[in-house]
Amino acid sequence: MTLAGLFSYYDICGKDVFVVDDHHKILAPWALIRRQIGRTPNLITIDHHTDVHEAFLGHACIETMESGEDAWALARALSKRIDWQDDQSLLWAIERLRHDEHIDAATMSDILNYAFCIQLSDGGGNPSIEKKAYEAERQVRWPLPPRLQFPCRPMTYDDPENHIFVISHDCAIGCTRMPHNDDCVVEHGNMIIELSYLDDQLARGAEMSRCVGIPHLEAQPYILDIDLDAFHSQKAIKPAAPETFYRLIRNAEAITIATEAECVEELKFDDEPINADMLFDQILRHIEMAVHDST
Ligand SMILES: [Zn+2]
Repeated sequence: MTLAGLFSYYDICGKDVFVVDDHHKILAPWALIRRQIGRTPNLITIDHHTDVHEAFLGHACIETMESGEDAWALARALSKRIDWQDDQSLLWAIERLRHDEHIDAATMSDILNYAFCIQLSDGGGNPSIEKKAYEAERQVRWPLPPRLQFPCRPMTYDDPENHIFVISHDCAIGCTRMPHNDDCVVEHGNMIIELSYLDDQLARGAEMSRCVGIPHLEAQPYILDIDLDAFHSQKAIKPAAPETFYRLIRNAEAITIATEAECVEELKFDDEPINADMLFDQILRHIEMAVHDST
């Protein structure tokens, strides 16, 4: 097995595009991109899930089951063994990574600098310093109300040890339903790459990135990573205003795609005639359009 055997490569009008079926194999192209650009790129990922499990924890849990040793400590020690300059080391790592552990593996081994996750499954994301202070005071004063005001954006963030920022979201942009309901889920999913939604996500991401010395995320080298299971409908893959998505494509050092066909099938909205093949074709078309837009 070679690294190149883990992914397909496409040159779309001069843009490097790497495609894997299972998301954790993406470590291979990420390491190759990192070698090529000679710097540690950031990651902007668009995914249904957060994909932020600790690298090798699944493997470590099985390894330590009988001995009772500390699985977390073993997982961290294994992360430190990844050498991104060594193909064999990467193959060793990919063989032992489980679902959702690839981002942590990459940020812990200097393949990626910071990761920013645009996703649909965790509304809270990384809690801000202000939010943590508010929650701490609320608990201390319970049942009295907290004296601190409920925090409003812009907010500030600690530097996460794993270098991963999960970006928060409220609901679909402009949603005024209270409480939010099942219609919100569809409306929200349908706008995953719409200009208004991505602009809001990137503004939240900028509040995070500024706290770790990255004033302009898009001005530094980044990989744009797309998991096709982020798209739950035909509407979601065909945004009415794709400008921000196209800018992210154009400015990316490279694009990586996980097709995750089973997750696409499982997560798509009811009666949507979509599948991973169709979404993949549409994404390639978007990349073509984005690249041509700049000429
Ligand atoms: Zn809503």
